Amino acid sequence: MERGQEAKIDLKALRHNLRAVKSLAGGAVIAVVKADAYGHGAVPVSKTLEKEGVFALAVAYASEARVLRQAGIKSTVLVLFDEEPEPCFDLDLVPVIHSLRSARRLSREARKRGRQIDVHVKADTGMGRMGLCADVCARDILQIASLPGLRLQGLMSHISEAHPGGLDFARLQLERFGSLRRELAAKGMKPFAHISSSASALLLPEAAMDALRVGLLLYGACPFEARGPDGHLPDKGFNLKPVMEVRTRIMLVKRFGKGQPVGYDRTFVTPRRSNIAVIPVGYADGYSRAFSNRASALVRGQRAAVAGRVCMDVTMLDVTGIRGVSEGDEVVLLGGGLSSRELAGWAGTNPYEVMTSLGGGARRRFE
Ligand SMILES: *Cc1c(COP(=O)(O)O)cnc(C)c1O
Repeated sequence: MERGQEAKIDLKALRHNLRAVKSLAGGAVIAVVKADAYGHGAVPVSKTLEKEGVFALAVAYASEARVLRQAGIKSTVLVLFDEEPEPCFDLDLVPVIHSLRSARRLSREARKRGRQIDVHVKADTGMGRMGLCADVCARDILQIASLPGLRLQGLMSHISEAHPGGLDFARLQLERFGSLRRELAAKGMKPFAHISSSASALLLPEAAMDALRVGLLLYGACPFEARGPDGHLPDKGFNLKPVMEVRTRIMLVKRFGKGQPVGYDRTFVTPRRSNIAVIPVGYADGYSRAFSNRASALVRGQRAAVAGRVCMDVTMLDVTGIRGVSEGDEVVLLGGGLSSRELAGWAGTNPYEVMTSLGGGARRRFE
């Protein structure tokens, strides 16, 4: 049996989610397709989004943009983290600037090539990651805007925390961003502004500004713990469809008596006569070791719990009580009622990591 899992990527669901996001965004959508579109496959995802119409695509590194360009994608591509000047010109990218020093470097390259380049500047309003510190950067931004070869097109920031019970810090970040924008406006500069990603797109409509810069919502997951057992988003009319479904097959079924330890360290011992199925997916395939004795998968439509520790190349499932299970049967690891949010809860992580690891390690089929 072939190792690993297959991810079915539902491009129709992706289009549906993009339309839903557009209905939130008074303005434009910048679709984030970094990390191979969160494990969904950056090229088919980007082609679909391009066809539907987005203001821009966003990647983390220029190497990701290169893959998109080689696949014939013509959209504006914003590079969120990487500031190497050469690929920005070679591949016609829009870099995000994080320091005066990198802006100067880009300007030198622009002059050398006799070119102009659009840039977005990032202000750090509290994320503590990339960008110029917002309280002191107005002067730097004016200087960046005056550098030859650079056209300051956009101004962005990133919200570090937004969930239904915690929006105070996000509001403080918005205030800082707002005062920076006012300071620039007073000097006659009104760059295209965007700060909202998925969580704030849902929770802080006032943060939408000129564009929403979202990833997770497009892939059909909620960025925070949804309210209620039925997983409602704050606005019940905002209906997302999961884009990724991950499946594998049963490689072997074992029948054990009561008291049989299963897997490394004997963390699971059969409590009765048990049927244990082995699947060809382990943590090397992105099925987290943290799922050990916690996660469930679907076998013949029923939940089967992970029995014992997830191994590197295989995992055991307790299929006792599920009738007629046999080798070759399909196993759903994600989808069909198992949400990335639920898997994230089992592994103590977030849906982003579930998608990038399970999708990243999968063979993909696009529908
Ligand atoms: C990843 C990322 C996003 C998208 O975040 P989502 O929560 O997936 O919407 C937006 N902006 C920046 C800077 C990012 O790194």
